[in-house]
Amino acid sequence: AMLNTSDLLRATARAYPGRVMVDDGQRSFTYAQFDGMVDCFAGWFLKSGAARGFRAAYLLGNQWEVLLTYHAVGRAGGVIVPFNARLTPQEISFLLDEAAVEFVVYDRDFEALFMEAIGQGARSLETIAAGSVKGAAGHALESILASMQRPAPLAFPHISASDDSGIWFTSGTTGKPKGAVVTHGSSVFSALLTSGAARVSSDTRLVSAAPLFHRGAVEDVHLAVTMMGGVHYLTKRFEPKQTLELLKSTRATFAFIVPTMAQMMLDVLDHGSYDLSHLRCWMSASAPLRQDLQERIRSELRIPSDALANAYGITESLMNTFCLGKDLLKHPSSAGRPVPLTEVRILGTDGEFMGPGEIGEIAISGPCQLRTYLGRQPDYVNVMLEAEGKRWYRSGDLGYLDQDGFLFIADRSKDMIITGGENVYSVEVEMALVGQPDVAEVAVIGQPDAKWGERVVAVIVPKKGRQPTESDLLHACIAIASYKRPKRFVFLDSLPRNSFGKVQKSVLRDIVKSIP
Ligand code: ATP
Repeated sequence: AMLNTSDLLRATARAYPGRVMVDDGQRSFTYAQFDGMVDCFAGWFLKSGAARGFRAAYLLGNQWEVLLTYHAVGRAGGVIVPFNARLTPQEISFLLDEAAVEFVVYDRDFEALFMEAIGQGARSLETIAAGSVKGAAGHALESILASMQRPAPLAFPHISASDDSGIWFTSGTTGKPKGAVVTHGSSVFSALLTSGAARVSSDTRLVSAAPLFHRGAVEDVHLAVTMMGGVHYLTKRFEPKQTLELLKSTRATFAFIVPTMAQMMLDVLDHGSYDLSHLRCWMSASAPLRQDLQERIRSELRIPSDALANAYGITESLMNTFCLGKDLLKHPSSAGRPVPLTEVRILGTDGEFMGPGEIGEIAISGPCQLRTYLGRQPDYVNVMLEAEGKRWYRSGDLGYLDQDGFLFIADRSKDMIITGGENVYSVEVEMALVGQPDVAEVAVIGQPDAKWGERVVAVIVPKKGRQPTESDLLHACIAIASYKRPKRFVFLDSLPRNSFGKVQKSVLRDIVKSIP
């Protein structure tokens, strides 16, 4: 088999034809059935005149049609363009043009949004409705699958590792999302690296709660499980109680849950306990996994202490480092060590690599990196670095490596606050405040200041019915240097978050600016 996602699925379907691949509680498909459906849908793309490198988008929830579309587009020689279902019609309309999308698969939940988006420009698009969209314009996926004869394997184009597989938009916490163009080789490597790191096998039962328009959720997690022949249990949208039930009823061995989702699950349990001791890997990624949260996941959900993992992942380079089990117990604030075939170095402001313990920009060299950014070659040049005969992706994250090669992430470089000439890492101030009894959530930002350049502002979401005082909050910061302590506290009912549950600090800065 070649290093492409089409052959990856084909190989599993031949090895484990009768195993269940996906189950959403209503329908389930074996690998052989699913591979056959992928053939039919891929054949339909070719029959509809899709040329090599065609772009097909999807606007779907966490449903099997995502996996079907992903594999069918790959098999037909096209490029997948996942759309975040939280985008506005204007944003979707913009991306349709920017990515020159020719086909879109959408779900009825997003029909109104999608129709408004395509109404905003003159373009020729083939639309495909998943499930039963009554009176929908365009094609129905069900009828496509029912009407197509399964084409012979040779009907499909030959795909090599260097061919483009997808355009994935970053989550946009620091600005406008950028489209990372990635290759089949990088997608397949990602499956290999994740399956090894996260103990995936043909016995794996996966419950993944992260949205399936993020590259990590599809190419790290689902592709790894697909490559090994495990089962995917899907629910269309995340609902904390339901996800807990699903983890339990399926006796899941692998969970992909980002920190905000974990927090929501623990909140609905309200200090009750739950037995998820069948998990072999509970993987967290996308944001810091606080130590108090780690402890609650282990004790209140009875996750085996060696099963909790923190992964450092980025759309542009997928999983870079991994901290599992004993490693995480010993280094609770670390993102772990690099996954195989991957190197992590710390870059100083003078462009030189730095030694252990020194903070700088995290640079990564590994096999899952983007090929370029869509339509923005200069942006790509800006994030790449040639050194030691290798290409390094500059992450925009600040951190350091310890003597043993464990990575500690300090902050996004854009979130670092420079006040009176001193660097303040927002994460450090957040950690000082987050454990406070009346505090539900904290985000620390910098606000322009005539005297200090920037001043440290802490945005606090109080617990229900509680009101922490400023003096208590300042007291909580006693262990950090005085220049790092907040000069202002702002109280809000909630923090702006994106679909991965990450705080959108650029939005938060605007909110705070508008509060006198
Ligand atoms: P944009 O680049 O458009 O602002 P984004 O950076 O949120 O969006 P992603 O690629 O989804 O886009 O997120 C990658 C970032 O998430 C990393 O650069 C890092 O800042 C953060 N991150 C990922 N995993 C972890 C982790 N385990 N601990 C701390 N931060 C993490």
